Amino acid sequence: MKIIYSEKCLEYDPSKLLGGHPEVPERVSKTYDFLKQKGFEFIEASPCSEKEILLAHSENHLNIVKSANFSGHDTVAFPDSLRYARLSAGAAIQAAELACKDKEFIFSLTRPPGHHASIRPAGFCYLNSMAIAISKLLKGRVTRAAILDIDVHHGNGTEDLIYGKDNVLFISIHQYPLYPLSGLESRLNCINIPLNPGTTEEQYLAALNKALFHIERFGPEILGISAGFDTYCEEDKYDLGDFQLKKESYRKIGEMISRTCKQLKIPSFAILEGGYSEDLPELIHNFLNGIKDGESS
Ligand SMILES: [Zn+2]
Repeated sequence: MKIIYSEKCLEYDPSKLLGGHPEVPERVSKTYDFLKQKGFEFIEASPCSEKEILLAHSENHLNIVKSANFSGHDTVAFPDSLRYARLSAGAAIQAAELACKDKEFIFSLTRPPGHHASIRPAGFCYLNSMAIAISKLLKGRVTRAAILDIDVHHGNGTEDLIYGKDNVLFISIHQYPLYPLSGLESRLNCINIPLNPGTTEEQYLAALNKALFHIERFGPEILGISAGFDTYCEEDKYDLGDFQLKKESYRKIGEMISRTCKQLKIPSFAILEGGYSEDLPELIHNFLNGIKDGESS
């Protein structure tokens, strides 16, 4: 198991521009310190190219991010938005390609997140790293891929970008009602599992089981996980989600996902989406340990 990371993604801070914002550099810097101390191995992230961005996004979207002249839901435009988003999307591509090549689980620990971005930046996201990484894999490495989005918010950007592609399955488990107020119904290749505010671990794991069953039936050659940790019970104090998952829940989630991939004999990778609590380093560590548990079970 390896982790893609770069200190460069700590260089921007929307909380300084907006006077308070949850998507801060400490999310990943503290996680990096924690995982480093636990002995995890890191690989330096490198940015994706504009050509790679265009595998998933329109030229118009790329120009909007480039122009730094936009306003989205809590999404700040600044001159280097594109540079940091390219780094995060590049890390997702590295994670996806390395997972395919080495048949090993890879985690991308970078920011900004990506799953709300499709036709414009939104929800702290500029480029959709997952859609870009999966589109890149489908250019040669694999013919069939699945995406599992476990952020508390619906992965609306990813759904919009891969909607109707019958070689990709998208499944999102999320809270409804909550931003971006989509994902109530499933459509074509996009399966949505909306859950009520206050969802418990037991209810969540039952939904995850259902999602994994859909993945098994689809039979992908790789699984990409949009890993948000804002399903955590402490997240409600930031008003970003209202699920009741505990620290240990993430180990169970990792193990269930990893066991399914082992049964299917497919590689998987995960990229960081949301997760804003002080306990984020521990939640990610538990998730990664769960992945290891599943691999060795
Ligand atoms: Zn989220």
